[in-house]
Amino acid sequence: MSIPVTYSPMSEALLALYAYTGGDTVHSKDHDWGNGWMKDKLGFEWDNRRRSRNDILLDAMVTIISLRSGRQPVALIREPESTQLELVIASEQPMTRTQRSDIERYFALLAKLPSTIDTHGEAELLVHAYRMCREEVKGLVKARAEWLDPAPPQISDAIEDLRARANEDDEYGNRRTMRREIDILTRARSAINSLIAYRDAADADAEDSLVPRLHHALTGCISFLYVENKRDFRVIDNAIDGGISAFLVEVSFLSRALDDMIHGARSDKFLRALLTKGVRCDWIHPTPAKAVSIALEGPSWGGLSALLPALKDASLDELVARLEAKLKAEDYFLTNRNITHQSGNLPAAFEVQVAAHCEGALVSYLADRHIESTLYIATALPVCYTCHLLIDAMKGVQGCNNFRLGSYNGVIDCGWEFPNVIRQADDVQKTMIQKINDQLKEGIERYHKPKEPFVEEDWGNMETSWSTV
Ligand SMILES: [Zn+2]
Repeated sequence: MSIPVTYSPMSEALLALYAYTGGDTVHSKDHDWGNGWMKDKLGFEWDNRRRSRNDILLDAMVTIISLRSGRQPVALIREPESTQLELVIASEQPMTRTQRSDIERYFALLAKLPSTIDTHGEAELLVHAYRMCREEVKGLVKARAEWLDPAPPQISDAIEDLRARANEDDEYGNRRTMRREIDILTRARSAINSLIAYRDAADADAEDSLVPRLHHALTGCISFLYVENKRDFRVIDNAIDGGISAFLVEVSFLSRALDDMIHGARSDKFLRALLTKGVRCDWIHPTPAKAVSIALEGPSWGGLSALLPALKDASLDELVARLEAKLKAEDYFLTNRNITHQSGNLPAAFEVQVAAHCEGALVSYLADRHIESTLYIATALPVCYTCHLLIDAMKGVQGCNNFRLGSYNGVIDCGWEFPNVIRQADDVQKTMIQKINDQLKEGIERYHKPKEPFVEEDWGNMETSWSTV
């Protein structure tokens, strides 16, 4: 067993912030139905399609790589000074040789795709992609069988019902809406039937032969799976007991990523030119996680308060009590998965498994080079609070490279490791801890603020004013 490292200011600061955060996220947009798909904290992003073509393509590539690895965290950048399409790929778990060669073959097939519609080339690419992500797609379809199997007859009933109503209704507008709904339901039924056939295929050859149809049936649903089209989105769920749109989103990630890339390879002549030169993948191997032990008692509390002045309004007992309460909730908070604590032991010692995130590994990879442009880091899973903080802090420190990130989920991972190579490391770390302290101050103030009792009076007054009208 390895001996835990005893001091990591970043882990201590994150642990303190975590103690005073309501959930385990900071400024997250989780569960935000207003802007897009309700994001599963572990899930991929499904909402923002108003990105540049370049970002969409990199997102599609990173999604496929992550699906091949079983939805592991993966991040990638395009090598900034390369004249060919060179991808630098960091994954949190090591990628096996087979996984890597599957992905490299996928890119080779994409490069071979002619600009004209050629069903043979496309089918070869699709079959390969579905084969390499087979466990992902098949696993999902199997896991959701109880919703999937009863769905087609329910959709058929809903279509019949709409047809009858459309024939009776004289209003043109209503008829048009119903036709649109019939179209959506027909597409959803076709996707679900294709998924069931794919799941029940007798062998690998039978499975492969179903892939082009399955892919086209799934991509045919994608446009109405965005919450932005709220009306469309509800149509399928209204037709099926228990709803199914969330599952269709989940199972369509591969198809959407493939579709984005096939479309890009066909229509974007710069991308075509790059693909023809050949795609190169540079794999960054993750460093193994290590244990960091954080002991909270008299002297170390002094050290922690010096690091985070916001703690002057809190106490050691309160902090430990808050952490213990959160850890009791076990997996309810994502952050808990990396923290262990023996309750009742004094001093209160928390052990955190610390590992580098993929975004940090990419920052390290480029640390000894000065890059003029701002690089986009594409991530398969939404970016966590601390990676976001790192990129944000680097913007304010002279001499650091600049990066842009995709979607953000705000999860605080107390096991976040500061990148092992980074320019102006001290300044960056100082800025980050300052920002954590600001955030912590807000959290402590919120926690100590007396809870305002619910006042019924306002409603009473409103009623009176209504009654006197
Ligand atoms: Zn992160």
